[in-house]
Amino acid sequence: MFERFLEFVRSIYGTKEFIPLHAPVFVGNEKNYLTDTVDSTFVSSVGEYVNQFESSVVDYTDAGYAIATVNGTSALHIALLLAGVKPGNIVITQSFTFVATCNAIRYCGALPAFVDVDLTTLGLSAESLEIYLAAHCEVRDDGCCWSRVDNQVIRACVPMHTYGFPANISEIKTICDRYNITLVEDAAESLGSYSSGMHTGTIGKLAAISFNGNKIITTGGGGMILTADEGLAKKAKHITTTAKVPHSWVFDHDEIGYNYRLPNINAALGVAQMEYLPFFVENKRNLAKLYQQWGKENGLQFMTEPKGTESNYWLNAVITESQSQRDEMLEVTNANQVMTRPAWTPMHRLAMNADCSTSAELDNTEWLYERLVSVPSSVVLND
Ligand SMILES: *Cc1c(COP(=O)(O)O)cnc(C)c1O
Repeated sequence: MFERFLEFVRSIYGTKEFIPLHAPVFVGNEKNYLTDTVDSTFVSSVGEYVNQFESSVVDYTDAGYAIATVNGTSALHIALLLAGVKPGNIVITQSFTFVATCNAIRYCGALPAFVDVDLTTLGLSAESLEIYLAAHCEVRDDGCCWSRVDNQVIRACVPMHTYGFPANISEIKTICDRYNITLVEDAAESLGSYSSGMHTGTIGKLAAISFNGNKIITTGGGGMILTADEGLAKKAKHITTTAKVPHSWVFDHDEIGYNYRLPNINAALGVAQMEYLPFFVENKRNLAKLYQQWGKENGLQFMTEPKGTESNYWLNAVITESQSQRDEMLEVTNANQVMTRPAWTPMHRLAMNADCSTSAELDNTEWLYERLVSVPSSVVLND
């Protein structure tokens, strides 16, 4: 079957050469805007493209405010700090995620706690979250949610919109609100994805997007913090730009800041990429349909967008029948220059996370790890 799959992927991308999992596409104003930054010498921390890039993301997502950063991990780090995450706190996230989600939690000195995901969304399971909180946690007189086991405050919850499929975010928000836990969305992979008509990353108090080279649009490296809160947006800008107090010549800094500001040259790429985002999303949604149709006819199950959501289909994913079938698919495709990948090793299995608490069951996480294969999902250009 995987031989036929190879042929199908080659027919879509029209090449006998190597086919990557996700390659960037530059067919717009990228070179013009990049040249402009070089000609003007404004390639670094000052320049108009950063503002333009932030505005275009605000317009597209309806987020309220967007603050550009050097990458998605730094955006998540700052989002967590602004959510009030302090050393020793616990932050709940899904075990089925990319390691950057956990790393950002650790940068704050906090400890991740892992719950399961839904098989339909690949995102944090509201049910698993509820069970974990009911078993371990209570809201005390100080208004905070405390873990009875660790005697620590559970400050935030970070669901991730895996491969662009929106998590069950409204349910998750309801639970977080009930327990006074701040909702921070890892929307690194889901620019262009909607849940009940709202753009992912605009439901939580804060969110992070990534513009890494493999994401739906890229700035080389880059990220963005989203929030509807003007005060938090101002703080985000301040703390990502070394916490400098505005003044014509004095170098004054009022707290420990970060050098996380996105350079203008990267933002120039971002402005050009944003002009093509609607085309990319449509193109990738069409590709997903082709995969799903082929899968139906050939007995291969592809992930489809959950009910009530619109996915950007950043990565298409096959759910194989068993770990041995998964391994066969990975072997055949990668040996034949068609790049495919398994899911990330679950976070609760990494040695560095051995000290983290987990929900009693992570069955779906383990089940998906054994069966999921992501397949080539770049924008398809026909000319
Ligand atoms: C890509 C990604 C990040 C981090 O983004 P970078 O820009 O690579 O730092 C964080 N979380 C998830 C889920 C990602 O896929």
